[in-house]
Amino acid sequence: MSTLTERWQASLMNNYGTPPLALVRGQGAEVWDADGRRYLDLVGGIAVNALGHAHPAVVEAVTKQLTTLGHTSNLYITEPPVALAERLLELAGAPGRVLFCNSGAEANETAFKLARRTGRPKVIACENAFHGRTMGALALTGQPPKREPFEPLVPGVVHVPYGDVAALEAAVDDTTAAVFLEPILGEAGAVTPPADYLAAARRITAERGALLVLDEVQTGIGRTGAWFAFQRAGIVPDVVTLAKGLGGGLPIGACIGFGAAGELFQPGQHGTTFGGNPVSCAAGLAVLATIEDEGLLEQVNLVGKTIANGVEELGHPLVTGVDGAGLLIGIVLGKPVSAAVATAAREGGILVNNAVPERVRLVPPLVLSEAQAREFLTALPGFLEAADG
Ligand code: PMP
Repeated sequence: MSTLTERWQASLMNNYGTPPLALVRGQGAEVWDADGRRYLDLVGGIAVNALGHAHPAVVEAVTKQLTTLGHTSNLYITEPPVALAERLLELAGAPGRVLFCNSGAEANETAFKLARRTGRPKVIACENAFHGRTMGALALTGQPPKREPFEPLVPGVVHVPYGDVAALEAAVDDTTAAVFLEPILGEAGAVTPPADYLAAARRITAERGALLVLDEVQTGIGRTGAWFAFQRAGIVPDVVTLAKGLGGGLPIGACIGFGAAGELFQPGQHGTTFGGNPVSCAAGLAVLATIEDEGLLEQVNLVGKTIANGVEELGHPLVTGVDGAGLLIGIVLGKPVSAAVATAAREGGILVNNAVPERVRLVPPLVLSEAQAREFLTALPGFLEAADG
């Protein structure tokens, strides 16, 4: 009998390379492998499992929806996408309209097409930002190694340095349709921009009639300790894209257009078969209700601070800083050894992410407890020693 890993290698097309671990079960912020070994999951499906694995609220909502009415196509109206759109707009605190799709990349494709509807040719995005791997989203992505194998990409995108207000001032003009920004760079390892950056981007885009599109695929739905990261900056963008945590593990994406931005598509101009399917939307409603019922925004702030302060207090020579917000945490390393830290952590029973060499990223389920945070802090010095040795 071949192992699950061997079967994976023989049957699946390469995407991220062969993963080092085969998992069979999950509960909350914990997962188990086939040998029954338990891991603390600080990756959470890459910021996906807002409520952790097998949360009863999601299980119940999905089961109830699947046994009542499954997918129906967008040719008919159903309750869950309407209720989810209403709730998202309520939480955002601004009127608008929502288009549902299936992933973060697709949500950004939607926003890109929305931007094209302004009739202006230029779109601005940031160096180092990540917006997805479909051709339009990849054109927005500012990471050359991910872009170059697939060129030519969708034209019209200009990249500027992230966090640089002067660069935005210089780039945005009356031919600019939209500026795409991540409120915190997620894939780049939880890189926080200067405090005034989003407010400056809001002012600059408003002055010049360009849309401000915030990619909250990673930062949205409680991840930073607020429903949306834009609320922490005290602004309202024109467009927000969501995915990941919104579905509590089920695939979903959303593009919200606030005010006039929600009116740019004409009927028939954009859509997708599974967008707004009742099952994913029922999961989304369960996620939002549970974040509220369980006080998870407060918990994210508390547990996030426990980790950030705890890492700083370690005073380990390999750690040069802690970045991010809430439970989107980047542990900044003085050497490019995040892969070695992640390997040592995995061997020690804790899953962390090493998307960039100089940062260890934590994006655990929002239900992560204080006790689980302390478990990580207690074990971390050993992982750093192993990587630094
Ligand atoms: N935008 C951001 C900010 C992301 O972090 C990601 C995924 N890491 C995406 C877009 C793409 O989302 P998906 O993988 O669901 O297409």
